[in-house]
Amino acid sequence: MYNTELKRYFSQELLDWYEVNKRDLPWRRHRDPYYIWVSEIMLQQTRVDTVIPYFHRFIERFPTIQSLADAPEDDVLKCWEGLGYYSRARNLQAAARQVTELYGGVMPSGKDEVSGLKGIGPYTSGAIRSIAFNIPAAAVDGNVMRVLSRYFLIEEDIMKVKTRTKMEELVLTLVPEGRASDFTQALMELGALICTPKSPKCLVCPVMEHCTARYEGKEESLPIKTKAKPPRPEYRLTAIVEGTGVHEGKILIRKRPSTGLLAGMWELPHVIVPASANPAVMPEEPAMSHLQGALLEEGIPVLPIGHVMDAEHTFSHIHWNMGVYRCTWQDAPISSLQAAESAAAYETGIEQFRWIHVHDMERYAFPNVFIRILHSYFSS
Ligand code: SF4
Repeated sequence: MYNTELKRYFSQELLDWYEVNKRDLPWRRHRDPYYIWVSEIMLQQTRVDTVIPYFHRFIERFPTIQSLADAPEDDVLKCWEGLGYYSRARNLQAAARQVTELYGGVMPSGKDEVSGLKGIGPYTSGAIRSIAFNIPAAAVDGNVMRVLSRYFLIEEDIMKVKTRTKMEELVLTLVPEGRASDFTQALMELGALICTPKSPKCLVCPVMEHCTARYEGKEESLPIKTKAKPPRPEYRLTAIVEGTGVHEGKILIRKRPSTGLLAGMWELPHVIVPASANPAVMPEEPAMSHLQGALLEEGIPVLPIGHVMDAEHTFSHIHWNMGVYRCTWQDAPISSLQAAESAAAYETGIEQFRWIHVHDMERYAFPNVFIRILHSYFSS
């Protein structure tokens, strides 16, 4: 399909460069498949610099697949707090339980076995099998497709499945015998450090001499990539509910349902509103009235006091616009809530609520946006 010489140069020059220039990353110090697996999951959508401290903490807290499988989910989420895309953490734990049950706690190396684990797609499977087990397997993500598109001048949309398949086939023809582990890492390294999305550093690139895009002056216009749909906006009114009586000095938090977005994490009570009630433009009075009514329907009786801040957060497919309101708890003749007053926690059957002090925050896993709101609130 591609010139054999072009491929040979690519693999050799890339590996020679990697030998000298590879970064000293914590998961590269061992070939432990568990470490490779954890690092690959953390690195999805996340920069290396961000991942390193999380990786150290995670491995210290869950040093083996068995220890991860045995841990309470709340501990895993807490350890992941701030990294985002929390389904990654839940899937990682679910897969650790699969490995424990099916393979005695030892990570398998077979394609079907690895791909059958929760949260492991073709890229992660290829990365684990090649890096940890030195098996020729393609780990093709956006970085790799960018490098290959440029070097081999592949002018096809990398968002299309057939382009990815073609790249996977190409990678398998590039892996030198016995060098699968280094080759996969070298390719990733080139995409991360040299052949970057904007302003690729062609002048210091180890494969520049034979790079077709550079030769034709097309390095900036490749890869071809159709734009993903922008995240859908959602509007939410959020309550910082201050406790009264025995809960004076505390605020109310609730646990999200065990499935769906941010499953199992803790948050401030909030309600969704239509776009016409965008918190950024909705006057304070109607917003507070809406918040009060909607929370009461959930069994949370509050008296909104006023707007304290706006916040926003972008998930892969949704963008939250949030108006945050300070509220006080109102005693209500609802038995479950009266129970909460004495027990400091209660279950509605769907959600779990807690009254917490600022110093209790460390015990609960919150999504980033709520951490930002809570820090801002407690420090003001
Ligand atoms: S020469 Fe430039 S475009 Fe080609 S692989 Fe290297 S950095 Fe990328």
